[in-house]
Amino acid sequence: MELLAVTKTFPASDVALLSDLGLSAFAENRDQEASGKTAEFAEARPDARPSWHMVGNVQRNKARSVVSWADRVDTVDSVRLADALAKAAAQRGRPLDVLLQASIDGDPARGGCPLPELAALADHVAGSGELRLVGVMAVAPREMNPARAFSVLADEVYRLRRDHPAATVVSAGMSGDLEDAIAHGSTCVRVGTALLGGRRLASP
Ligand SMILES: *Cc1c(COP(=O)(O)O)cnc(C)c1O
Repeated sequence: MELLAVTKTFPASDVALLSDLGLSAFAENRDQEASGKTAEFAEARPDARPSWHMVGNVQRNKARSVVSWADRVDTVDSVRLADALAKAAAQRGRPLDVLLQASIDGDPARGGCPLPELAALADHVAGSGELRLVGVMAVAPREMNPARAFSVLADEVYRLRRDHPAATVVSAGMSGDLEDAIAHGSTCVRVGTALLGGRRLASP
């Protein structure tokens, strides 16, 4: 089980404390905030080697900046974004691990690839020499029972793995629904509030 500490809106000094406590994977959802924070963290804890994850929506014109700090982008939801990240990864000279973000209810407003299009996106990403498809990520839709949502996701991941056996990561579950997610096969939970307390500004 992977534990991603979601550190958005919290300062680098808090990330340093979590690192001192033994956490080694952190997630951010905004490029600008993360660029500064990852640099500050590296100065504060030069010997730490955490992995940084992008769990927010990525604008294609920010792909280059995002791959400068992110070890994994967990929100790839379109061919166009995949192509932009592949190009940026080629420029930095190192392949990029990615998760496909699945939209469990298909609501386009909330990001994520609709489930009927997920297999084609997976094939596209797997065919890119610059991206490594390591799994799938999803947020339970607000209107849906989380257990039901994660069970739909689990079925989808099961199908996807027939063609992409290396896609083993299932990132599902946040502070409020991680038990349901784990019960339905999550291998990675993304926890903010339960570790760090409430965020002052609501992050979308
Ligand atoms: C903020 C955020 C989380 C963490 O949510 P909590 O409820 O604070 O644990 C998890 N995943 C994503 C994509 C987020 O943006």
